[in-house]
Amino acid sequence: MSAVWHPFTQHATEPDPLRIASSEGAYLFTEDGRTILDGISSWWVVTHGHRQPEIVEAIQQTASRLDQVIFAGLTHEPAEELAEALVEVAPAGLSRVFYSDSGSTAVEVALKMALGYWRHAGDGRHRIAVIEDSYHGDTIGTMSVGERSVFNAAYDPLMFAVDKLPCPADDGQATLQAFEALAETGEMAALILEPLVLGAGGMRMYPPEVLAGLRAICDRHDVLMIADEVMTGWGRTGRLWACDHAGIAPDILCTSKGLTGGVVPLAVTLASERIFQAHYSTDRRRTFYHSSSYTANPIACAAALAQVRLWRERDMAGILDNLSRMQGDHLADLQRDDRFENARQCGTIAALDLKVSDGGYLAETGPRMRAHFLRQGVLLRPLGNTVYVLPPYCVTSGDLDLAWSAIASFEG
Ligand SMILES: *Cc1c(COP(=O)(O)O)cnc(C)c1O
Repeated sequence: MSAVWHPFTQHATEPDPLRIASSEGAYLFTEDGRTILDGISSWWVVTHGHRQPEIVEAIQQTASRLDQVIFAGLTHEPAEELAEALVEVAPAGLSRVFYSDSGSTAVEVALKMALGYWRHAGDGRHRIAVIEDSYHGDTIGTMSVGERSVFNAAYDPLMFAVDKLPCPADDGQATLQAFEALAETGEMAALILEPLVLGAGGMRMYPPEVLAGLRAICDRHDVLMIADEVMTGWGRTGRLWACDHAGIAPDILCTSKGLTGGVVPLAVTLASERIFQAHYSTDRRRTFYHSSSYTANPIACAAALAQVRLWRERDMAGILDNLSRMQGDHLADLQRDDRFENARQCGTIAALDLKVSDGGYLAETGPRMRAHFLRQGVLLRPLGNTVYVLPPYCVTSGDLDLAWSAIASFEG
């Protein structure tokens, strides 16, 4: 019996995990010789493809001369170069780069920066507005700003209070009005959101106009906007950032998952100059007291830099357009299938809901679907009854045919 306790896994009921021996491009290869298409980019981290050669090479080269070095009082070329490259491609005005090691820590850092900003600005604001059904991670702080559900009910006593906005539906007016009313209190420190796509909340999507509307309210009432682009960043929505669709820049932006192309862990919280300046002082109490042991790991930074360079060297717009179009075609096919509803797409992400009488995440449909997809050689992991394909960008049209025909052939 294995000693491993797997994430989000009920060991009492789930089949033994597949043992993966190697990975390449859009595929995983098991120890017993099976080939599996990674239809969810290994939980949304892989962007270009597994073991993207330029990224692997950067890791190998850097590891041959440098490993973790303490990042307080010391710095190194991979971190400096990456910071410069990130500021260049980030939404306008994000001029400071803070390193950590996972999406959750990037969000925790963002929340601390926002609260620190207001404290050092001499304003007592500390309320955080969140959007229902959001997901920002599994640490106590990130669960607090995310949706409360069966996944975190046991930890509820440890969570802090937040102000909830309804998830944007249709033109988002209900969300905008609720936020305007909250913002008018003058007590809101920040609004945290997943721009355009609520990932773990079931691939729920809303239009760029709503995001732009929320930004306008933030501006009017001086509320900081934290964009959690941990999932949406690096092209998933068809543009580098989801915020780009709305032509807006948040005050703080979190990125992780695709930052290194999904090869090694790394996270960044980007902040605007005024947030940095609020912490810049001869008064040491204004120091941003946060660090992860593996902050700015040079090997991970080099991987991320190689990833960012691919955006310069490749026709990413063309690659993403092509993938989005193929996804749209497959979605249109299934739209005619009355076993499914709510077909939706944002760039490379395509999702739809299986009609089920007794819905809910804990229903048996999810595990049955997963098993069916695996028998077809495809890794897909429905969120409740929401089936989605979120592939690495290297997938071919043949790969997508395989994924979508696995969905079409599910017999309920
Ligand atoms: C995955 C995810 C996180 C958490 O990232 P981890 O690296 O798993 O800690 C945070 N926010 C969003 C939107 C995510 O999708």
